Amino acid sequence: MSRVLVLYTGGTIGMTETPDGLAPSPGLLPGLLERFRRPGLDFDVVEFDELIDSSAIEPRHWNRIIAALAERYGDYDGFVVIHGTDTMAYTAGVLAFALRGLAKPVVLTGAQLPLLHPRSDGWNNVADALEAACQPALHEVAIAFDRLLLRGSRARKLDVEHFAGFGSPNAEPLARFAIHPHWNKAVWLPGQGEFQPKALREDLSIACLFLSPGQGAALAGRLMADPALDAAVLMSYGSGNAPADPALLNGVKALTARGGAVLNITQAPRGAVEVGAYAASQPLARAGAVAGADLTPEAALAKLHVLLSAGLSGPQLAAQLARPLRGEMSAH
Ligand code: ASP
Repeated sequence: MSRVLVLYTGGTIGMTETPDGLAPSPGLLPGLLERFRRPGLDFDVVEFDELIDSSAIEPRHWNRIIAALAERYGDYDGFVVIHGTDTMAYTAGVLAFALRGLAKPVVLTGAQLPLLHPRSDGWNNVADALEAACQPALHEVAIAFDRLLLRGSRARKLDVEHFAGFGSPNAEPLARFAIHPHWNKAVWLPGQGEFQPKALREDLSIACLFLSPGQGAALAGRLMADPALDAAVLMSYGSGNAPADPALLNGVKALTARGGAVLNITQAPRGAVEVGAYAASQPLARAGAVAGADLTPEAALAKLHVLLSAGLSGPQLAAQLARPLRGEMSAH
């Protein structure tokens, strides 16, 4: 018998139509989830007091999920987090880094259409999430969506129309669900040490800056120079290239000098930052930007948030950012 805890935080899956459009409908989802009861699976559902459209997610919501998982960690074999799709990849990234020493499955899922809709994708998604949450060898945070199980720290929302809403462009799925589940155990992460979940700071200012031609580089630089900023993800061009704009480079230096970090990732959906592939990658690196390899923007932001919350700064922060911690980046 597997015991699973389902945490319901909001999202389309439990929404109903209102005059303004879809909105969460308290009390609805737990009743619908009763249909998933079967021999061999025992689950409890906790509906959060504040059900949200996940576009409203904030660090305090992440802390609530972390606290709920931490409190009941010993009582269950696995966990399912029902979440809106808009920011599911951010939450998956945050949980992947914040749940240190995780040795049980934590599987996020949701739906593109509410469960009450006759064509909802939510039934498959929840069924697959529950199945993955019963896998004792799965020691990581994952997203179950449209018959795929994806590493949480690699996943991205890629589609707002089709049911294949998520992908992990730089990493193989952890499983594919067909008539049988096809577990890709060769890529699953090993458990590491003792479970030590970390709460997040709720006061951090981390910018995600998408470089663009024209004034984009200078604007990004000015934001980084602002002392209120704790860190930045810089989405540069191609394999990590940027113009040698003095305002941009001064911003990187200023933010790095005050103990923060600039994490350089690529705007391209696939592939990695590779310093030295082009001469145009050198100025950013020399100014102190940390090369983020093939980190997704969501995982980059999550990694910065969790490491800054743990009190890291300066060279220690840069060193942790540059190496894979939870399978989030390919080592080159
Ligand atoms: N706006 C919704 C949310 O993220 C979208 C969804 O769940 O599919 O909560």
